[in-house]
Amino acid sequence: MGLLEGRTAVVTGAARGIGLEIARTFIANGARVVVGDIDDEAGAAAVAELGGEDHARYVHCDVRDGVAVEAPIDVAEEAFGPLGVFVNNAGVTRDATMRTMTEEQFDDIIAIHLKGTWNGTRAAAGRMRGHGGGAIVNISSISGKVGLVGQTNYSAAKAGIVGLTKAAAKEVAFAGVRVNAVQPGLIRTAMTLAMPEHIWEEKMAEIPMGRAAEPSEVAQVVLFLASDMSSYMTGTVLEITGGRHI
Ligand code: NAP
Repeated sequence: MGLLEGRTAVVTGAARGIGLEIARTFIANGARVVVGDIDDEAGAAAVAELGGEDHARYVHCDVRDGVAVEAPIDVAEEAFGPLGVFVNNAGVTRDATMRTMTEEQFDDIIAIHLKGTWNGTRAAAGRMRGHGGGAIVNISSISGKVGLVGQTNYSAAKAGIVGLTKAAAKEVAFAGVRVNAVQPGLIRTAMTLAMPEHIWEEKMAEIPMGRAAEPSEVAQVVLFLASDMSSYMTGTVLEITGGRHI
């Protein structure tokens, strides 16, 4: 029996990267998953990679839009049954120092990460409390714990997700809905492989374990928080950093 046998899950931003790996891990543990993303081509490819429509569906969903985030939940519940797990993973970076960062770059990151996570948490908690509970996992970042140069927008949004997670956890605990977050460090995805080599090396030097993580190492921790293995945990933040910034 998988840890999520028979559960229905939605993962935002799961057309690629960490989100796709989370979807793959959930399915390997018995869940069926709806991928919400804005990249329709990658979303369709993700469904094929995840084993086809018996296991996964793709729904176009821009997490900045509070109405749009209902769509993957609707499809999930129609196709697979009551929503049990929701992961707020969608995200991008718009790095620049404050001297050069535009207001648009700041607002975009707050809208996608912080407002997007609020939209997803609100919509998912609303459904889950109607059927006795569920688990929401929010993807923050170590950047939200320590603040990183060139990321005043991203660090602010990712720190905001921590406050949101704790407040939401307190609001919906009585209804059996758990809300937790993870803070990944340096993970090998398109987002980080686009980084200039000297920045990658600087980050590597800060990691006691001396290596970056694979997306599967994030997905396993998200699986733990999504499953009954963490049944008495809510409002917590788990770091996945190889010991960086502890
Ligand atoms: P990724 O490979 O770029 O994947 C992110 C996915 O989210 C993409 O498919 C992207 O679509 C989608 N997306 C972007 N904006 C969206 C929106 N408004 N609505 C719905 N989907 C949207 O990134 P990743 O590295 O896997 O990151 C996943 C999460 O982990 C993010 O929240 C990120 O901040 C967090 N994180 C990553 C790292 C790391 O080292 N990689 C570390 C800490 C935290 P497009 O391709 O069309 O933009």
